[in-house]
Formats: sequence, C-alpha cells, structure tokens
Amino acid sequence: MSKILNYLKEHHFSITETLLKLTIAESPSHSKALVDQCGNVLRAEFEKLIGGSIERIEKAEVGNQYKFTYGTGEEHEQVLVIGHMDTVWDRGALPIRQEGNILYGPGVFDMKGGLTVTLWALKTLKETGADLKRKVTFLVTSDEEIGSDHSRETILEEAKKSSVVFVPESSIGPDGAVKTERKGAGQFLLEIEGISAHAGINAWDGASAIEELAHQILDLKKIANKEEGISVNVGVIKGGTRCNVIAKEATAEIDVRITKKSQAEQLTERVLNRPTFVEGTKTKVTGKIERYPLERTEAVFQLYEDLKEIAAHHGYDLREGSSGGASDGNFTAGLGIPTIDGLGPVGDGAHSEDEHVDLANLPYRAALLAEIIFKYANK
Ligand SMILES: [Zn+2]
Repeated sequence: MSKILNYLKEHHFSITETLLKLTIAESPSHSKALVDQCGNVLRAEFEKLIGGSIERIEKAEVGNQYKFTYGTGEEHEQVLVIGHMDTVWDRGALPIRQEGNILYGPGVFDMKGGLTVTLWALKTLKETGADLKRKVTFLVTSDEEIGSDHSRETILEEAKKSSVVFVPESSIGPDGAVKTERKGAGQFLLEIEGISAHAGINAWDGASAIEELAHQILDLKKIANKEEGISVNVGVIKGGTRCNVIAKEATAEIDVRITKKSQAEQLTERVLNRPTFVEGTKTKVTGKIERYPLERTEAVFQLYEDLKEIAAHHGYDLREGSSGGASDGNFTAGLGIPTIDGLGPVGDGAHSEDEHVDLANLPYRAALLAEIIFKYANK
C-alpha cells in the first residue's frame, strides 16, 4: 500500500492548499452564514477531488451539514467518517500564518486538518484504484463545538448503518497519538428554594438556600471517584440577594465525567436524588449524561492495532491516548459501534491561540486514514 503514501507525497502542495482554503473560510459555530460559506468550500473540494454523491442537510439555526458518499456497497454496513467544520473562533480572532512547516490558524487543528486528511484519503483511494466492498460515508456537521444538538440525530442514524466509525479529530502530542478512550460527559442544574427572612429580626424563621447549597456541593463531591475515573465539578454557583436577607434561592451548574457507560445510570441517580440538609429548603436537579464515553473495548483496541501496523509500515510509531473531552465519536461509541478518534493531523493547541498543524505530516496522516478505510471497507 505504499502506492497510497507515494501518491499523497506527490500531492503534498495540493493537500496544504485544501487546508488553507478551508481555514480561510472561517466558520464560528454561531454564525450560520459563515459556516455555510465554509460548507460551500468543502463541497466544492469534494466535487473537484472525489466527485461522489453529495447530500446537503439544510439547517435553520446552524450551518448546513453534508453527507458525502464515496463508492457503492451495502447501505447498512458502511464505513463512517465524521467531522465538523465549525470552530470556536470568531472571525478575525486568530490570524492565519505559516512558519516553516507549521500552519497556525482558527480551526486548522480542530478540525479542518481532519477534514483535509479525509478528503485526501478518499481522493487517494479513488486515484489509486482501490476497490471497496463497502461504501464510505463522510458526514460533516456544523455544531460540534456547541453541543451537536442539531446533528446528533443524523450522527446516530448514520452510525446505526455503520460497521466502524473513524473520527479525524485532533490527535494527541508531537507524534499524533490516536484516541482510544474519551470520557463521557453530562451537565446538571441544581436549584434550591429556601425561605427568606430578615437576618436580624426573624433569622430563625428562614431556611437559607445558600447554606443548603454549601452542603449539596460537598455531598456531590463524594460521588467523584478518581480510581473509577468519575469526576464531578460544580463550576458555577449563584444565590442570595442581600447580605442581610436569608437567601430564598441558590443554584449550581454541575459537570460530570465518566469513563464507562455502565457508570451512567447510578451516577445520574445519585446526582438527581438529593437529600435535604437544611430543614425548610427544597432541592431540584435536572440534567443528564449527554454523551456516553468512548470506551477502549476490544474492537477499539483492534482498530488501534491495525492502525499501528499501517503506521509502522511507513516508519512511524503510532501511540494511543485518552481524552477527558468528548466529541461526536462519543455518540457512535455509545451505540456500541467500534469508534476510533484522533485520526486528524499532527499538531497542537486546539481551542488555544497556539492552534497549529504540522504540514509535513499531512501525507502520512491521510495515508493512515486511507489505508484503515481500505482495510475496513473490505472486511
Ligand atoms: Zn473538534
């Protein structure tokens, strides 16, 4: 399969050009107009490079999304690649610049580099005449950075028809380790209603929502378990009106992370069912685990082993790593579909001003994806 890497190396300049085009089309999640423009660039690149079938999924509130298909084959056992074109950067917030082989810019690493690698992986499979038994669907969404509310259904629907899912999100570290594990995440809102009273005149008639909140925070922390990989963070608290008033209301926003799907139910139960500590107060909790974890199952480990073998073939040592953050890969993994993440380019600084991609490694990363797609599309 070194034909594939050779082809990509020969087209190194064009690959960089694709990445530049996608990066220049800045696409902050909240601007539908800008994300739509980026979608147009992506679509044009797909048409020009690959020319398979294209389905545009119209969205009213966020950017339109795309389902690109390459090859034919059974619908229900496709190979799925998922990516997102939205970024966390407002237009103009981060300059695009190149220093040697390093390209800096908004979304270059998260994850326009991954979109580029996917386009070129498919292009190479086409140009090198690789026959695929299964078709490949490349689903590109537009709201991953703001929770994927407008794409979750489509992702789940496509995942159910897939035998494997590849996620070219940003990789880890200077060697571009892939992600074989991602934590699951949930958000909860805790609301307490107390009884207000004058702090001086009738203090004993009141029931302080703030005092109850203090107890709740400490009690919630007891759910966290470092060994089990369960974390609980109360990230925002609000409460009270004046210093001399016993607080009638208090709220807390809670973020929880889990490493196994099996932890979800019990943890949710414990967060939702709160005891009362201060008599006269009432506590209500709403929320849920939004994304199940991407677990390092046997099938996921096998995917990694296969990738490692391909990388070794090209003289690279491919490592694996885990991430506390969630991605759209969590949705597909939650369904039990083998999913491997972090297949994007080598780089660093996702969501930070240092965001960059190593252009020198782009052909290798595209080859990695092309060859793993080839392998699984012929299984
Ligand atoms: Zn991302």
